[in-house]
Amino acid sequence: MIFFNTLSGKKEKFVPLEKNKVKIYVCGPTVYNLIHLGNARPMCVFDVLRKYLIYRGYEVIFVQNFTDIDDKIIKKAEQNKTFFEEVSKKYKKEYIVDARGLGISKPDITPSATDYITEMINFISKLIKKNYAYKTDSGSVYFKTNKFYEYGKLSGQNLSDLKSDVRIFKNEEKKNATDFALWKSSKPNEPSWISPWGKGRPGWHIECSTMIKKNLGDTIDIHCGGEDLIFPHHENEIAQSECCNNKKLANYWLHNGFINIDNKKMSKSLNNFFTVRDLSKKVGYEVLRYLLISVHYRSPINFSEKIIDQCKSSLTRLYNCKNFLEKLSCSCQDTPKKSFGNINKDLKEELTLCKKRFIEAMNNDLNTADALGYLFILTKKINSKIFLNKKVLKSKQTIKFARNIFEELTDILGILYEKKSCKNPQIEIKKLIEERQKLREKKDYKTADKIRKKLDKMGIILKDTADGAVWENK
Ligand SMILES: [Zn+2]
Repeated sequence: MIFFNTLSGKKEKFVPLEKNKVKIYVCGPTVYNLIHLGNARPMCVFDVLRKYLIYRGYEVIFVQNFTDIDDKIIKKAEQNKTFFEEVSKKYKKEYIVDARGLGISKPDITPSATDYITEMINFISKLIKKNYAYKTDSGSVYFKTNKFYEYGKLSGQNLSDLKSDVRIFKNEEKKNATDFALWKSSKPNEPSWISPWGKGRPGWHIECSTMIKKNLGDTIDIHCGGEDLIFPHHENEIAQSECCNNKKLANYWLHNGFINIDNKKMSKSLNNFFTVRDLSKKVGYEVLRYLLISVHYRSPINFSEKIIDQCKSSLTRLYNCKNFLEKLSCSCQDTPKKSFGNINKDLKEELTLCKKRFIEAMNNDLNTADALGYLFILTKKINSKIFLNKKVLKSKQTIKFARNIFEELTDILGILYEKKSCKNPQIEIKKLIEERQKLREKKDYKTADKIRKKLDKMGIILKDTADGAVWENK
């Protein structure tokens, strides 16, 4: 298995710290709002990473945090005239609704930042003691970036490049422009905790460093997140943790790419911003999950209505295959006479090869796009060799074998979990064909053709015969 490691800038063979065990940390949401499509990408992609590692026999410990104290949460609480805890509690719940909808397995541990204030204070105290941090007159604490010689190693920048970075927030309290807050002194009426430096609250980066140390130890195998987190968030996590612990924070850093909307970067200012909740009401959660894993995780995704339609029809095609296999399994059991002895060897080989290619794609930096390609080749083979072949290949063993492989692969990707939406495609197809037939009888060929096109999108080919229309899967 190889992964592209942001830290080295190249693909590396994956070797876990402990044999057969993988410790993963993913930066979770700041809970002040409904999540948008960009937030959902790391959720889905790294859920597939986790599922795949478990499939490969690893014991995975997957930690994803909640940032439940932050400027944005405080601002929202002020606007709504409520406590920050109410805001974070509400949006934590909303996040879980979306995560379940997207088919995300619950992380093993979901720490919330405010439960770790004591540990964060200890962490910061240690950094001050080691002369990696300093307190200011107002009672804030900053990290001394120029004391950590490797600062910038993740984002591939050096300190002088960074000083001109517009993302660096300058203020008079800092000794250096690149220094960042470990502890922020609080203004009156702001939520605060008592610390050796006065009343205040933790900075964002220290939360993750502390929760990693407490839940997974000083060094973890894989640290994940969106590429927008590389700098400054992950760079700062490295600086704090490595200076405090004298150990490497993470061996592999995996970052997912951005989402563009109609070729423009998705952002609030451009007002091309979609929440997962709104989209799920329009197209369903599973179509969103499918979209987010249908592209290799490091490539950008261009979101458009067209791509949503493509994802819908791809999913329908897979659901058709799943449902046919299920139906055939049942009918085989009911009527053993239909069973034609042993499994067909050629077909077994062909399907096994598809699975092998699928695994190879997943091993190659989690290439879900290629893996899906092989899943469709597999689906096509099942369609043509089993469904359309009335005799030879319809043995109980063949169907069982095909069904097992098909489910094994779709389970790795965490798709086809929505039972309701595509429960009985056959009824829907039959209805559409009948509707089309009636239109043709009325000589309304134009509308009839629209239905044929709709069926085509669903992966159904229609053939008009003297006995009426017959159909098959593509
Ligand atoms: Zn983080």
